[in-house]
Amino acid sequence: MIEVKNLKKQFGKNVVLDNINLEIKKGEVVSLIGPSGSGKSTILRSIIDLETITSGDILIEGNNLKDKKIKKEMLLKTGMVFQTFNLFPHMSVRNNIVKTLELVKKLDKKEANKIAEETLEVVGLIDKIDNFPSELSGGQKQRVAIARALSLRPDILLFDEPTSALDPELVKEVLDIIRKLKNDKITMLIVSHEMNFVKEISDKVVVLEKGEILEKGDSKKIFENPDSQRVKEFLNTIY
Ligand code: ADP
Ligand code: MG
Repeated sequence: MIEVKNLKKQFGKNVVLDNINLEIKKGEVVSLIGPSGSGKSTILRSIIDLETITSGDILIEGNNLKDKKIKKEMLLKTGMVFQTFNLFPHMSVRNNIVKTLELVKKLDKKEANKIAEETLEVVGLIDKIDNFPSELSGGQKQRVAIARALSLRPDILLFDEPTSALDPELVKEVLDIIRKLKNDKITMLIVSHEMNFVKEISDKVVVLEKGEILEKGDSKKIFENPDSQRVKEFLNTIY
């Protein structure tokens, strides 16, 4: 579904990603972990074209994002959920989804409303459809953001620390939705510091440090018996 090949990213002279190679297959859940500043967000942002990569290739379903003709179509296959929700504050929950569908997918109002209702059912928030974001808890806001991303029917969902801005008691409701999406076989690339969750939900885990991959592989193996001494130390400090 997504292939990242020899990705390098510099901000000015500062190399923040180097020699990044990743593959996410259909139906797989892959997590990126590593210390703050190791480049996790930059990888996600590069995949959805929010960052211009310095060199290397990103392929979505075999199509290179460098190919301008198909780039827009390929980006529509991705959906991103951010740490800070990024909901439109002046729009109801319904319109956060409906307006996005009208704008991005050019759907008519009726169809957009139907999908908004369906996806809000998935995240258990149909009763909040006419509320505004300011009337919701952080966990509910993030669930709306997930519904909005899902409403675009992406082939892969990317999550950048979806629970980091939440009070501890609200983390579970968001993680439970992501668990549900895994059951529905949604392909996901997740950045999270919730290590128990990462271990449980991921098929593969990629450990980054200072812009390079320290180790990647089967989730259980990475957590229980990593090859790299640095990965052992990192996991010992946070897990
Ligand atoms: P992580 O998500 O793992 O915490 P980031 O991908 O946000 O790491 O950042 C990786 C590195 O890139 C950091 O050193 C950060 O300071 C740098 N960086 C990120 N965005 C920018 C930017 N827009 N301009 C300059 N440096 C940036
Ligand atoms: Mg980050």
